[in-house]
Amino acid sequence: MSTKAYAAHSAGQKLAPFALQRRAVGPEDVRIDILHCGVCHSDLHTVRGDWPGIRFPVVPGHEIVGRVAAVGDSVSRFRPGDIAGVGCMVGSCLRCDSCCEGLEQYCDHGFVQTYGGNIFGGGETTYGGYATDIVVDQRFVLSVTHKGDLAGVAPLLCAGITCWSPLRRWRAGPGSRVGVVGIGGLGHMGVKLAAALGAHVVAFTSSEGKRREALSLGAHEVAVSRYPEEMRAHANSLDLLLDTVAAPHDLDTYSQLLKRDGTMVLVGIPERPHPPIGVVNLIIKRRAIAGSAFGGIAETQEMLDFCAERNITADVEPISIQDVETAYERLQRSDVRYRFVIDIASLRDELLHAWRS
Ligand code: NAP
Ligand code: ZN
Repeated sequence: MSTKAYAAHSAGQKLAPFALQRRAVGPEDVRIDILHCGVCHSDLHTVRGDWPGIRFPVVPGHEIVGRVAAVGDSVSRFRPGDIAGVGCMVGSCLRCDSCCEGLEQYCDHGFVQTYGGNIFGGGETTYGGYATDIVVDQRFVLSVTHKGDLAGVAPLLCAGITCWSPLRRWRAGPGSRVGVVGIGGLGHMGVKLAAALGAHVVAFTSSEGKRREALSLGAHEVAVSRYPEEMRAHANSLDLLLDTVAAPHDLDTYSQLLKRDGTMVLVGIPERPHPPIGVVNLIIKRRAIAGSAFGGIAETQEMLDFCAERNITADVEPISIQDVETAYERLQRSDVRYRFVIDIASLRDELLHAWRS
């Protein structure tokens, strides 16, 4: 059975319809009919060729929610009809220390990316969620228990977990002060999750228009980064800063907002390096700068369950697959409230129309 998808055939090319073949469902596999797929800025970096080593054609999409269509003989956790999710990875060695600690994203042998990845044991490329279906090993499939509209759940699979993992690692909660820089797909989830964990949240945005919205997302305070006096008001005040900005920028402006022993965690992956960092800023208050990659399977499930219990979802703009290039242009301009999510019915309809005509 052929899978209908949208792919970029080389860097900078517009996405176009693409047919691909998923593997047959093996004993450990789950086949999922995709319902919704979020549009992450990583998809845009990838199709534009911002990062090295991208394998084209690329079918992007790693914020996947769908309905289980078939399961292999050894699959116990899922049954046909269940709602399931897939995030940024579809495989890892499952034997190294990181995998055994539930941190498969740091697998010693490299995790298998949901798209553009190298399937273990072969040169085959993985294809992501801008597609009608996907086949994934059950160990990399998440259980979704949210009730109601599932479009807002899809972004939890990347934007949500990429913020949740550092928030938990650096113990955000009652009594801690957390800053979130860049209020886009990741950042708006960072604000929601940090607030839900009980932290005091300060949102840092370059967009004046997001000032009020950040408060309604759950931030307790907002600073617009182009006003130095607003930034100065938060000097030496934060335990943790989550930097989600998708472009190079001055990190010193933010590191000085940390308290003694505070940590700035970089999750944004700009196409060019940030300007050099001033060490004195770090030394005088034993501040740290760290990085963090999305999250392991167990912590992703923990985050999904936490969100389902509290009815936390992303704020989304649903789009059809045919509008994905317009969505990319708007994403490039930081013009999204706060995640585009593709309704995969639009891809199935395209198939139906082509078949009828
Ligand atoms: P996004 O929705 O585009 O949000 C990024 C936000 O950064 C923008 O909304 C904007 O917020 C701010 N920004 C300021 N200047 C910018 C500029 N020149 N270009 C772009 N953004 C600018 O992106 P996202 O999907 O949240 O992803 C953010 C970054 O995280 C990307 O680099 C992505 O590849 C990376 N990422 C990393 C991981 C990981 O595992 N570490 C996982 C997923 C994504 P304001 O308007 O509030 O300033
Ligand atoms: Zn992503």
